[in-house]
Amino acid sequence: MTQINLFGMTLVELESLCADESMPRFTAKQMCDWLYAKHVDSIYAMTNLSLKNRSRLNEIACVSRHAPVNCQVSRDGTKKYLFQIDKSDDSESSHRYVEAVFIPDGDRGTLCISCQVGCKMGCRFCVTGQQGFHGNLSASDILNQIFSIPEFESLTNIVYMGMGEPMDNLDNVLRSTEVLTAPWGLGWSPHRITVSTVGIIPGLRRYLNESQCHLAVSLHNPFASERLDIMPMQQAYPIADVVTLLRQYDWSGQRRVSFEYTMFRGLNDDTRHAAELVRLLKGLFCRVNLIRFHSSPDTPYKTSSTQNMERFRDYLNAHGIICTIRASRGEDIMAACGLLAGKNQ
Ligand code: SF4
Repeated sequence: MTQINLFGMTLVELESLCADESMPRFTAKQMCDWLYAKHVDSIYAMTNLSLKNRSRLNEIACVSRHAPVNCQVSRDGTKKYLFQIDKSDDSESSHRYVEAVFIPDGDRGTLCISCQVGCKMGCRFCVTGQQGFHGNLSASDILNQIFSIPEFESLTNIVYMGMGEPMDNLDNVLRSTEVLTAPWGLGWSPHRITVSTVGIIPGLRRYLNESQCHLAVSLHNPFASERLDIMPMQQAYPIADVVTLLRQYDWSGQRRVSFEYTMFRGLNDDTRHAAELVRLLKGLFCRVNLIRFHSSPDTPYKTSSTQNMERFRDYLNAHGIICTIRASRGEDIMAACGLLAGKNQ
């Protein structure tokens, strides 16, 4: 019989389990405390549960967390962790691994996590996208990347910008953000968490209604036909419709929306693009992050020059859009944006 993994379950889910097992409702709250505040990894360690209840839980459930199987460290201190997902599969297939990237920066520690093995979105410039889709991560798989690294206690921010499209696995992404932010979980402010998307509108609408975490939209080109050349999802969910949806929400408070814009030489980095971007985002309270593209042997795309990136940034700033060039981290270990392959090397 497959055991239920208690790690990754929400309070409501644990209450339902308790009801099914005729255990008191408060047992669920106690389990949350052991799982998320005290980080125990066994049911018998939950010492304020009765021995009878622990024995019964031990028959049907477990607390399954697993350490990364590999860690690569960049010259700049960035660390790329490799996690094995399907441990029942003994093959050396790369399709059972995901990566998470820890980025230390002064007193900030950001972890970029994955939500799917591979990705369906097929963005042409992305190593993950070229692998195709091999499965959703459970909430437990998502949270395991956070709880199982040595830097867990020093994390200040989580970004869902690793492998996969969060709006395509939204149930599990929302379960995981609930564990991170709920008082019975880690109790973090939602503003320490950013979830990214290419703009899957139905999922995005639900996310905006159900979560207070920040949002990052992968934009990369303001012209519909040119964006379609690099992002197939533009066909189903045009960026103009995504921006129209975002305008229906209030961004003047603490929740922020940002647009990720990877710069490709000769493709999206001239003034024509900057001007169209200003037109597209006019009046929306947002910021734009320019990302240096990391060229690899498998891709025809080239890196924009620093001069072009700075000119682009200055144009946006001069036209009222807050724009910064994101510092590039972990390129030497293939940990930078768009380079996560999920391979055990
Ligand atoms: Fe998927 Fe993100 Fe890569 Fe696009 S950029 S293929 S959404 S992982």
